[in-house]
Amino acid sequence: MYAEILVEIRSKHIDKTFTYHVPKELEPEIAIGKRVLVLFGSQKIEGYVLGLKNESDIETKDILEVLDPDPVLNDEMLELGKFLQKETLSSLSSCYSAMLPKALKASKKANINKKEITYLKLTDDVEELRKKVTSSSQQEILALFKEESAVLKKRANQVSASAVKTLLNKGILIEEKEEVYRYQMPTEEQEAPKKLNAEQQHAFTEITNSLNHSQVFLLHGVTGSGKTEIYLNVIEEVIREGKEAIVLVPEISLTPQFVKRFSARFPSDIAVLHSGLSDGEKYDEWRKILRHEVHICIGARSASFAPFTNIGIIIMDEEHSESYKQENAPRYYTLDILKKRSQTHSCPLILGSATPTLDSMARAGKKIYTYLPLKKRANAALLPDCYLIDMAEEVKSRHPIISRDLECAIIEKIHKKEQVLLLLNRRGHSTTITCSNCGYTYRCPHCDITLTYHKTSKNLRCHYCGFTKYIDESCPNCHEKSLNYYGLGTEKLEEYLTNIFPTARIVRMDADSTANKGMHEKIIEDFQNQKYDILLGTQMISKGLDFPNVTLVGIIDADASLNIPDYKSNERTFSLLSQASGRAGRSAKKGMVYIQTFQPENYILQCVQKNDFAKFYQYEMRIRKTLKYPPFYYLALLTFKSKEYATVSEESRKAKEFLEEKLDPTTIILGPSTANMFIVNKIYHFEILLKYRFDDKLMSTLKELDELLLLNKKVTMDIDFHY
Ligand code: ADP
Ligand code: ZN
Repeated sequence: MYAEILVEIRSKHIDKTFTYHVPKELEPEIAIGKRVLVLFGSQKIEGYVLGLKNESDIETKDILEVLDPDPVLNDEMLELGKFLQKETLSSLSSCYSAMLPKALKASKKANINKKEITYLKLTDDVEELRKKVTSSSQQEILALFKEESAVLKKRANQVSASAVKTLLNKGILIEEKEEVYRYQMPTEEQEAPKKLNAEQQHAFTEITNSLNHSQVFLLHGVTGSGKTEIYLNVIEEVIREGKEAIVLVPEISLTPQFVKRFSARFPSDIAVLHSGLSDGEKYDEWRKILRHEVHICIGARSASFAPFTNIGIIIMDEEHSESYKQENAPRYYTLDILKKRSQTHSCPLILGSATPTLDSMARAGKKIYTYLPLKKRANAALLPDCYLIDMAEEVKSRHPIISRDLECAIIEKIHKKEQVLLLLNRRGHSTTITCSNCGYTYRCPHCDITLTYHKTSKNLRCHYCGFTKYIDESCPNCHEKSLNYYGLGTEKLEEYLTNIFPTARIVRMDADSTANKGMHEKIIEDFQNQKYDILLGTQMISKGLDFPNVTLVGIIDADASLNIPDYKSNERTFSLLSQASGRAGRSAKKGMVYIQTFQPENYILQCVQKNDFAKFYQYEMRIRKTLKYPPFYYLALLTFKSKEYATVSEESRKAKEFLEEKLDPTTIILGPSTANMFIVNKIYHFEILLKYRFDDKLMSTLKELDELLLLNKKVTMDIDFHY
């Protein structure tokens, strides 16, 4: 017998299967979807079995070892990998790797096994056995079995490890191993379903009426409109039919309350998959799914590959979130995976959001998706009042960081023992350090941006490549002590707040303050238990959090995200600010939102202020249409990288010529131009942007170009279809 093996070599050059001979003794074990160990050149490497056959016309090496008792990739997963490969033009092995938890990837490093506990059991009646035992420590161990029939080996070893050994050798005791899962979901008090209101009931009925079709629903409801409650009810139906549910959330570690609600409703029927788990924990959770021990998988991006075999519903909460896009190869978009699986399993897919993407809205408009609006908040909480603050005025009145109105409101809320959220989407202390004497500015030596000052750790950091450097007190150029710290980051804001509200209890949440495992959860929990008055932070604080006592939200610098040169910055700003505003007044107390900006006349900000999604949508769709951006055109961004400026400039120019020749004339080819981040880590970046509608030749041309470029080792090209 022979096997087709896909070897795990992270290079596009070697993306084909190789034939290996299956030695007789391995024939009973080998199966498609399992991992095997083979010799590749002189190297021992792992690969996936993709096919089996009886004959081979070439001489082949033997497979050395079959690594899995059960296949790690089932038929659906094998297909899904090929789909991913086609969609992203990445290597097949990188696709399979992206789909599997580390412990099950074909690679050499992972050494993650199941965790087992060893029990000791008696081989005969205890009184009988006692007669055979003389030493007192052995007797002591037997005495442990008076109350229990199985005793933890660890416990017996504490009495006497050598006696345990003797008893095992004599055949008086035997060992039994039992697998334990490393991750334990906290148990919650069970929660009864709520009676759905009319809007919720309508959505629920629509979805459950098509439980056996592949159909996409867009559930568009403001925060607090009861989307999660609908998910829970739909899942209940699905489980009743003996089927399974996948629930995706952007960043699960930021939304512990979400998971808690699910586990209160479906105790011990849930596996979770997210980056906050250790590799061992992920491996265990994965196997709970494989063994059909649970019906629900909740998780981030990777949970879209949960190996369920009878899926009844797929839910993508906060569907607008950019974290659903995988940022390195294979650059897939989770939604494509979910649609594919919804087709395979003939089950509905629910996209939920308060601020759906323009793309989803457009599809709903064309009836490709079924649109299910939820207009009211479910628990009758009122939407907050929202104000735009003109910061130009505030700068004149010497309130450049916190405006006078926001300052008064904070004082009032703290006095009333209510809580405040402040959003500033920029971490660190200051973003630009410049010498007022000679004009010197600290810049990253590897990238073309300024370094951010982090005061807590007293260093300067590049937020692109991670370069760090200690800061000197005096200018490295002219040696005067005249450095100025410009630009506001969360650290500086925290410092400022501590000064103006000396008695307030303040906590900061950003990538730096939550770098250690468990810190997110701790800050959220402490804030929820009202150990703090003010929570300030980056966009982390705008996600899904439900704090009933928060009645004031301040957006410190609304312009920061508006001014990013990217066609998505309006959409991103609207979504971020709406989400953040939605944090105010989630319960009976009415909330307030202050948005600080230097452009109070900006249309997007006015839409946020009026909470008018429809107006925002119309306005932005007009812009997108005029400028030929999604959802009117598809985009593909080609990024060319090289250590040599001349090479990358030349190769990208040649690529453009190639594309012009091959692609459909309706496809727009922009560039090559230097990328936004032109130099990162000493590597030069050029870009070509393709805008297309229907181009039959696109995929094959890009594949051809990719293969041509592989011949030049000095330059690489990334393709991003969901730029
Ligand atoms: P979303 O997911 O849209 O943010 P949730 O499902 O979390 O909304 O609901 C917001 C709040 O309203 C929650 O506290 C939830 O328990 C409550 N809620 C939801 N649906 C109902 C209902 N039908 N009746 C009463 N309370 C509800
Ligand atoms: Zn850098």
